[in-house]
Amino acid sequence: MNQNIKRLLAQIEAKGPRSCSRKGCNNICDLNSDKHGNICEDCFDELVLTGSDTDISAFMETEKQDLYAARIKYGTLFGMDLGNF
Ligand SMILES: [Zn+2]
Repeated sequence: MNQNIKRLLAQIEAKGPRSCSRKGCNNICDLNSDKHGNICEDCFDELVLTGSDTDISAFMETEKQDLYAARIKYGTLFGMDLGNF
């Protein structure tokens, strides 16, 4: 496992619900790192998927994709209701 992620996991402690520190993400989460702030499970999963050389600070500055909004936009483009697909 990525050493950065291992370190982050080591720093994580449950401190009760708070919002994710990643740019553009308002999810409530309870994963916290003193160095990187809070991260929700969606963002954490995405972070892990980025691979072994990820700079966690840089990742936290990347905008979280709004997949639901993207789906609605895509559906609109093709005249389909994908909201409940
Ligand atoms: Zn998040």
